[in-house]
Formats: sequence, C-alpha cells, structure tokens
Amino acid sequence: MNLCDQKTVKNIMTAYGLHFRKEFGQNFLTNRMVVEDIAEQCTDVADGTILEIGPGIGTLTRELCQRHREVVALEIDKSLIPALGYTLNDFHNVTVINEDVMKADLDAILAPYFEKGSVSVCANLPYYITTPILMKLLESGLPFRYITIMIQSEVADRLVAKAGSGAYGAITAVLNYYGEAERLFTVSAGHFMPPPKVNSAVVRIKLHEEKPYRPIDEKIFFRTVRAAFEQRRKTLPNALSAGFPELEKETCVALVEQAGHRPDIRGERLSTAEFAALSDLIAEALKQS
Ligand code: SAM
Repeated sequence: MNLCDQKTVKNIMTAYGLHFRKEFGQNFLTNRMVVEDIAEQCTDVADGTILEIGPGIGTLTRELCQRHREVVALEIDKSLIPALGYTLNDFHNVTVINEDVMKADLDAILAPYFEKGSVSVCANLPYYITTPILMKLLESGLPFRYITIMIQSEVADRLVAKAGSGAYGAITAVLNYYGEAERLFTVSAGHFMPPPKVNSAVVRIKLHEEKPYRPIDEKIFFRTVRAAFEQRRKTLPNALSAGFPELEKETCVALVEQAGHRPDIRGERLSTAEFAALSDLIAEALKQS
C-alpha cells in the first residue's frame, strides 16, 4: 500500500467518507523519501517504542511500524480510526488510540512501554498547536529518548536559535533546559496534501538524561525566562521588575550585575545556563523580600 500516492489517499478517503479537516491541521505527507527519512532518523534505537501524535491515515505510522518494535499512535479525529484499521491492518506492533494528546494521560498510556525499554516521540505535528504539544511533552517529565517533530520552518528556526539572535526566544531557552535540538531537514509545502501555506522542517530533540542546569527553584527559572521575553525590547532589569513586582527596580539592577551582566543588557542575550544562574539569585532575593 503506497500512502504517498495521492490517488490512493483520495480513494481511501472517499471509501471512508473522509475529508481534510483544517481545524485539526490535517496536511498529510506525500513524499516517500521524507517519510522514510523521518521514520529512520527519529531515534538511534531500533528496538524501542515510538509515540506518534496524529497518524492521519497512517502514512508515517506504516514506516515507523517497519522500523521500530512498537508504535502507539494518538489521533484526535474519530473519523480516521476505521481508515487506520485498514491502512495498518498488516502490522501487529501498533496501537491506535482515539484521543486528544493535550488531554491524554501520557504517564498511564506509556508506562508499560517505558518498562520494556526506550520511548521516543515522532510526529508530523498539526501547526495550530505545535508549541502546546511540545511543552506538554517536555513538561511531562517522561524520559523520552528523542522527540522528533515536523513543524513550521520558522518555528524550527526558533527551536535551534542561538542566544542573542533574532529567532531566539523563551521557547528556545526553555527547550535547551530539557534537551538539545537539531534541525534535520526542510520539507517544502508541495510534499503535503493539501499543501500548507508555509514550508516545514524536521527538528530532532535529544533529551538530557541528566539536566545540565539545576536551578534552585524551577518555577522561578521559568518565570525569569518568561519575564525576560515578555518585555523583549526592555533592558533585562526593567523586564524583570515587570515580571517580579515583588522586587524593587534597584534590586533587579543589582541582581543582573551580580550575575555578571551590564545593566543595559537585554534578556535575549542570555543562554539557558545564564538564566538558571540569574534565577538562583532572584530566588534568594525573593526569600529575603
Ligand atoms: N501523520 C500524518 C502524516 O504525516 O501524513 C498526519 C499529520 S497531520 C499534519 C496532523 C495529524 O494530527 C492529523 O491526523 C490530525 O487529525 C491530528 N491531530 C490534530 N490535533 C491533534 C491532537 N490534539 N491530538 C492528537 N492528534 C491530533
């Protein structure tokens, strides 16, 4: 069965009374090499489990099933489930679950698979909800080996941006806290059905087994990053004083200097390690305030 063939996809969709649902970000992949490359490169372990988010009609799922021990696929669109039963019929190592990934209890779903070995995520993500899904995966605390996602090209640029560059943002600093992102390749809009308005890119995140940064208080760390980028055009002390109303403006200046920065620096210049160090000073100052 060749699900990269547009005619085959159309026939299956007609047979199951399906149409592309924009509200679920349904743009199905139709380039075999791209699908094979994602399935191949999404992890370095062949005998592990892959969590796929949004299998669609099973194009990537089939390639994942061929290369990995087990595949768990979460699909929000109920109408796709019978079609998936047909397209994945020849595989016995796949479990399809009709659930919204944002509501799913990933701990419970994946517990038996983590017991057996490594689990990685691989997904051609719906654009409308890329960042919330990524944050849910990272914040779940689940020890995924890799998270490999196809996303809008501009979002991919942000994930792999260097501190101080225009594309660097809160999501970059937070992502670096959990792992290391690498842009694998770009995929043009013409390789999807229907074609989206923008190009896409595949990003692979290797999660840290041991977190290299250990802020005293994780919540204060995330608050520090958020404060710095919410007021991106302001100097860091000004942005911090807006984000931490408990602290005096002079205290924010002093903390930034104590962390080794000039008081006119902007938050976008700080690496994740520097945010962690600064957040420790803020946590101490908050205790005393
Ligand atoms: N994997 C297929 C492919 O590459 O051809 C389809 C990818 S398509 C970009 C995104 C898929 O995610 C769709 O099947 C859509 O229904 C599904 N989806 C959208 N929102 C979802 C959610 N919150 N939870 C689970 N699946 C979702």
